[in-house]
Amino acid sequence: MIFKAFLIKYGEIGLKGKNRYLFEDALMRQIRFSLNGAGEFEVTKEQGRIYVNVCSDYDYEDVMERLQRVFGIVAICPVVFCEDNSWDNLTKTVGDYIDAAYDDKNFTFKVESRRADKHYPKKSMEINADMGEYLLERFQGARVDVHHPEILLNIEIRQKTYIYSKSIPGPGGMPVGTNGKAMLLLSGGIDSPVAGYMIAKRGVTIDATYFHAPPYTSERAKEKVIDLAKIIARYAGPVKLNIINFTDIQLAIYEKCPHDELTIIMRRYMMRIAERIAREDGCLGLVTGESIGQVASQTMQSLAATNAVCTLPVYRPVIAFDKNDIVAISEKIGAFETSILPYEDCCTIFVAKHPVTKPNIRVIERSEHHLDEIIDAMVETAISTRDIVMCE
Ligand code: ATP
Ligand code: MG
Repeated sequence: MIFKAFLIKYGEIGLKGKNRYLFEDALMRQIRFSLNGAGEFEVTKEQGRIYVNVCSDYDYEDVMERLQRVFGIVAICPVVFCEDNSWDNLTKTVGDYIDAAYDDKNFTFKVESRRADKHYPKKSMEINADMGEYLLERFQGARVDVHHPEILLNIEIRQKTYIYSKSIPGPGGMPVGTNGKAMLLLSGGIDSPVAGYMIAKRGVTIDATYFHAPPYTSERAKEKVIDLAKIIARYAGPVKLNIINFTDIQLAIYEKCPHDELTIIMRRYMMRIAERIAREDGCLGLVTGESIGQVASQTMQSLAATNAVCTLPVYRPVIAFDKNDIVAISEKIGAFETSILPYEDCCTIFVAKHPVTKPNIRVIERSEHHLDEIIDAMVETAISTRDIVMCE
């Protein structure tokens, strides 16, 4: 592979002082994490730029795909090195690079050079002019266009010379780890993995909680959620997944509360439990995949009833999205195929035929009083017996 390094471009708006270091350090950590297993790489910061230097064989497509998953990267420029900076060798290396990188030799271009090594015998302006001349001679169909060139050829002269002209878009966003941590309520559906992805894209570290109800939900349903957490981890870094056995609580609600309120009451206990764990683990908010009106438990009234039990902020990134839009993101991030596997969900097992769509919070609270004598102990047990799986 001709590319021996990648220059990482990142958004620099608002990056001053200490924030800049935090941002860059988090970005480098996430890059290292994403390249784990793709070969040997050295991620460095030089003069306010981040480079991924290649130290072994690697697969270009694979590495590019991995880098394109790292939030905070705006663009990736594959770099060719020129070790011997003598002018003859430099022009030849640049010419060979252009020859290999562009099939169509009818192009407009501009040379932009920088000298980190100030002892280099030519100044930047001379390098631009002389290299331009060389390229015009070598490629008959080439023309210079200093305003809107098709190829912006960058030449950075240091110990060795860095040559690059291609810029492949990254995902944008902010590096995970720069904006605190949130607790994602992760089900096996389509929406919650997308919600987790979207929050992670803003730099938030993701923990997750999944409620299952064995034996009503299977081991395979649980494995599916672990797989979804791993898919989120490809973007967000390691996800700590809490798996809560929710069976006894669900059975108690089923036994003691009106059946048309089952889903709402169950959702309220999910939120309470997730919030407890979130606080213990230093999360600053909860995240769900709720979207207004999608199902009975997601009407404005139902969302208000669910929200009422939480004091941490609840983030719902897909709240105003149509299902189609959520599906499009799910497909883009590679979660869709897993999300649609047909395993039972703990919510669907105890659902009423006619759930309330406009729950009244007072009425719901009264129904929950039927659980007073048993529920606290059950919640404690559910939390203390949870399984924790690190998904990466
Ligand atoms: P999803 O596709 O995310 O499963 P959904 O359309 O099935 O969403 P609901 O079942 O009403 O919607 O759930 C709404 C939200 O509640 C989910 O997006 C998720 O954040 C959370 N949630 C639902 N069930 C569970 C569960 N078993 N474990 C953890 N969180 C859950
Ligand atoms: Mg669901």
